[in-house]
Amino acid sequence: MLSLNQEVGAWDTVLLDPLTEDSFIGNLQQRFKRDHIYTYIGNVLVSINPYRKLALYSADLVESYVKKPPFQLPPHIYGVAESAYRWLNDKSENQCIIVTGESGAGKTEAARIVLQFLVLVSGESPEVKTINDRLLQANTLLEAFGNAKTMKNDNASRFGKFLDIEFDFRGDPIGGHLTNYFLDKARVTNLGLHDRNFHIFYQLLSGADIHLLKCLKLQRNAEQYAILQTESNHPTVTEDDDKKLFVYTKGALEILGFSPSDIVDIFRVLAVILKLGNLQFVPCNNIDGTDGCTISNDYELFEVCELLLADNRWIQRILISKQIEDGVLTDLSAIEATKVKDTLCRTLYSRLFTWLINRINDSIKSKSLGKRKFLGVLDLYGFECFNTNSFEQLIINYCNEKLHQFMINICVKEEQEGMIKEGLEWTKIEYFNNLAICQLLEHENHGILSLLEEPHIQTDDEYFTRLEQCCSGHTHCLIDEVNTPNCFQIRHFAGTVTYKIKTFIEKNRDKLPKEHSRTMFKCELKIMQELFPEGNPRRCSVKRPVSKASQIQVSLNALLKNLGNRQNHYIRCIKPNETKQPKLFEMPLVQHQVRYMCLLSTVQIWRSGYCQKMPFLQFLCRYKMICPHTWPKWRGSPIEGVSVLIRGLPIPSAEFTFGRTKLFIRSPRTVFELEDFRKK
Ligand code: ATP
Ligand code: MG
Repeated sequence: MLSLNQEVGAWDTVLLDPLTEDSFIGNLQQRFKRDHIYTYIGNVLVSINPYRKLALYSADLVESYVKKPPFQLPPHIYGVAESAYRWLNDKSENQCIIVTGESGAGKTEAARIVLQFLVLVSGESPEVKTINDRLLQANTLLEAFGNAKTMKNDNASRFGKFLDIEFDFRGDPIGGHLTNYFLDKARVTNLGLHDRNFHIFYQLLSGADIHLLKCLKLQRNAEQYAILQTESNHPTVTEDDDKKLFVYTKGALEILGFSPSDIVDIFRVLAVILKLGNLQFVPCNNIDGTDGCTISNDYELFEVCELLLADNRWIQRILISKQIEDGVLTDLSAIEATKVKDTLCRTLYSRLFTWLINRINDSIKSKSLGKRKFLGVLDLYGFECFNTNSFEQLIINYCNEKLHQFMINICVKEEQEGMIKEGLEWTKIEYFNNLAICQLLEHENHGILSLLEEPHIQTDDEYFTRLEQCCSGHTHCLIDEVNTPNCFQIRHFAGTVTYKIKTFIEKNRDKLPKEHSRTMFKCELKIMQELFPEGNPRRCSVKRPVSKASQIQVSLNALLKNLGNRQNHYIRCIKPNETKQPKLFEMPLVQHQVRYMCLLSTVQIWRSGYCQKMPFLQFLCRYKMICPHTWPKWRGSPIEGVSVLIRGLPIPSAEFTFGRTKLFIRSPRTVFELEDFRKK
């Protein structure tokens, strides 16, 4: 049974009495002190990052959670995963576990624990084992290529990830599909003070054996590479860890079916990025008086060309000159050439990342054509606010706003409106709705993201002027040209962020000149043709380039539409302190998160709410076999049938409430009990 005692606090905050913000947070704190990092709000799990390894995860514990009816063991990620897995199997309804929280709160760890649970509970046939292995390895690989150390988190996800796992009728995984959202590729060439580049670069340099390094023309020392340097340069992730993780990453590539030559190609692209990043351009004057530049360390360029199996002149040409019309070249200044080099590094990395995801998807694709069910795990990047915030933070925070809006709609707004419509007694619950912020961002004509798309806007300054015209009066947008020139602020649901406009237009357009694609495609290194297919001169279809902002809007809306048709489960992660310390619970920081995640409203909803509602007829069809009076056919009205049916059940009547057209069921335990009766 649910526990509520002085020692461990309440497992489920729905039982807290009195319920106030203080008692809610006090309960979390009391539990956290004793390493009980998980607490329920009904079936929503709140998880507080312990910042140290706890003995909370094991195959034995997974087994206990599977054997016991749901929500009868202490709150745990296993409890949520088990519940989703049970719904999937009992009801054949697609499921999703949505993990949210700010950067460093523990989302990626939670998603990993969910995946480990699912792997442990499924069957043991060789096919199932293969797919399970691949799903786990996909995670390892993505973390190496998609995560990096930031000021907020040593293992920050720099892309959004939705892993959708397919199950067969037995409940065994038969495949999966990964969708990634907006990789923060800017960090390939721009690192903040306490940042590192993507983990894989350091893993490669520390972990590659001497032969591999030689073949890649690399040196072991990360200090040799400009794109790995920051002003502070004090890594917390040690070289030993990188070395160990490289073994896992390589193992993951092998298990996922990458051939030895694929693997070398991947490393060659990484080596090319490291070396391109080192190129230095010095200004020179052309005979005709125009500015030009030359490469001062051209031995790096020679090695880049050797790695790409390309002609030195081709690569040099795209770096220091630009095609203004067919066949006519103009020289670039040293500053322009540096920008081109950086763009090329970022493009190579992001193309490699997308290519990896596509290959992983081929490897985990289900071969079965039978009836399938899906259980997805959503782990996006958390809300971010750094000292300097740019386009990447805007996109990341936009994703967080949209997800928050989705959850408010499902958990609070629709619930409340549905109850009122059904004539149920209901005390109105106040909550902060971030709809206005979503509209500020994506309004068709004058949203912050939509303005980026206006065709006549070519520069950051023009964008700034339009922003001032359209958004400066908005309650959630602040433009203060005097104190923060060329910046705008958004009052997000999770806090105010100041964005610097510089480079917004360029990052959003993300255009690669045609001659760059052509040159990259021409390289004889096999992978390059797959990374730059548009560079194929024989390919005639020219797709209009889609901007980053519209890409993310389209893909995010598709995701949320998909989630709207599923049964969703929530893990809300909380960060206990900003310094990554174990045992430290900073009250104001937790309070801030509890507030913006509307956790108290969630408790209130759960207290007066219901976990499931079902139209009377649907309920009767599903459970009529439990009762001799309704089986095989009930001839009266559906509402009477439901009433007869539940009167005969050994479940307290307080668990059910009759609305106008639907039956409301209070706790998930009751739903699972009904399912058990049905099976008997
Ligand atoms: P981001 O949005 O930046 O990707 P995140 O919410 O995914 O952040 P994680 O990477 O999951 O955050 O967690 C940050 C770090 O906190 C982990 O690398 C790990 O050290 C620690 N951590 C998180 N959850 C746990 C846990 N359950 N047990 C032990 N340590 C944890
Ligand atoms: Mg993460």
